[in-house]
Amino acid sequence: MDAMVFAPADSTLHSVQQARAVLERAIAVAGGEDRLRRLRTVTLHYTGHRTMINQSRQAYPPWDREPASGSVVVDREGERMFAENYTSYPGIGRFGAAWAVRGDQGVHWEPDRNHYGSEVIATYSGRETAGPWALATRWIPPLILIDAWDCGTNLRRLGRVTRDDLPMDAVAWTQRDGGTVTLLVETGTGVVHGFESVRGDGVYGDVTDRVAYSDWRRVGGVVLPAKRTDRCNDEVVRELDLEYGVDLAVEDDRFELPPGYTRPRPAPDRPDERLREVADGVYLDPDGVMVVEFGDFLAVADCPDDYHRSRSTIAALRERFPDKPVRYVVPSHTHGDHGGGARAYFEIGATVLTTPGHVEFYRTLARPAPRTISPDPYVATDDGPPIEAFRGTHVISDNVRTMVLHDVGPNAHSEELTIVHLPDQGVVWQADIFFSPATGGGLNPAMPITVDFAEKLAALGITTFTALLEAHHGRVVSVEEFRQALALADYRGY
Ligand SMILES: [Zn+2]
Ligand SMILES: [Zn+2]
Repeated sequence: MDAMVFAPADSTLHSVQQARAVLERAIAVAGGEDRLRRLRTVTLHYTGHRTMINQSRQAYPPWDREPASGSVVVDREGERMFAENYTSYPGIGRFGAAWAVRGDQGVHWEPDRNHYGSEVIATYSGRETAGPWALATRWIPPLILIDAWDCGTNLRRLGRVTRDDLPMDAVAWTQRDGGTVTLLVETGTGVVHGFESVRGDGVYGDVTDRVAYSDWRRVGGVVLPAKRTDRCNDEVVRELDLEYGVDLAVEDDRFELPPGYTRPRPAPDRPDERLREVADGVYLDPDGVMVVEFGDFLAVADCPDDYHRSRSTIAALRERFPDKPVRYVVPSHTHGDHGGGARAYFEIGATVLTTPGHVEFYRTLARPAPRTISPDPYVATDDGPPIEAFRGTHVISDNVRTMVLHDVGPNAHSEELTIVHLPDQGVVWQADIFFSPATGGGLNPAMPITVDFAEKLAALGITTFTALLEAHHGRVVSVEEFRQALALADYRGY
């Protein structure tokens, strides 16, 4: 008789086999493999709210809650999908993104045109469509089960875990977009609990995102959830009511780019121009980080996202201005997309200039947090990071330049919010209180928060300017364009 060698219980093969057993049961509970594979279309509409972690008016909890909504449509027969996702902000309105894919061609756009105007954000072809296709499975549990089942030897069992006091089996695989997810299946019932993934965040360090589905019901022979709860390191960040439809007819135009959008123009060819001079001694680092050149130092407005992004700005500045250290960084507010990179400036000894209510946020950011996914070498000294607070207005000046900081808060976006005024150049730089489309030209009607901003500018004596810069991108808006945007909202007071 031939010698038979079986895989040991801790082997990779055993892990794959155990994971398949977990999935097989979950698929049976969800309606059975045959039914799941015969799904022709699935539609989902969701509404609920988001908890605005580090995107609230206060720099600390309790966080604001804002409406959230969206939809997903998958036509499996026609190999088409559509997704849209929205969040609203007080005083600012609705922001969102949409994707449509037909086969191996896709398009991504911004329905409310806050940032991108009439130009699409991106077009996809071939493997680039993997992102939206993987995204759709994460909204539709039967499709994520099929995705896992079809991933072949990519699947592993991670063992038994406890979530919400229930024992669960965890299996993991890498989806077609390169993202690895851990699917959680309740051990007792075989019902899908949801999935987890991990990432490095500039402000919070190591983060586990968990999506939990609940309130299951049978729709067209498939078991689907009526609720979804998203958590970030166990803190609830979004709660949604879900309404699914199965095998319904879907309109062809759902999968089309809406009329009025144009393809993006090719980016201007400026290979060695990373820092764009927009006024005398005033530069923009992609996209809207402003750098002001003084006689023997530099000041930077905003340090978005994370250590690494700010490190890259600092490297560009060292190359361009080898003799001028960054003395100050002025984050407009504490939201991660404006202040998350402060650790890189602490590391080089630059002072964070901020308003009193934001000091504790930047002190906390300097402290060690678990940062194993996206580590950085910064270690705070015993006396803490260099932070200086100002109230109202603060002037940085030498015999070459003058840079004036104004706190224009409180407003509907942040209780404190710093703008920069360069009186000699007539430049105003701001974050999140005026949005002009970055591309495609055109202007949107001013939001209520922009009217508030215009009134504050006038009250500060800034009754005109030559250039209005915005922290999110490199478009330079003239005072005439600013007034047009205000007029579109019926405000003519600036
Ligand atoms: Zn913000
Ligand atoms: Zn922002």
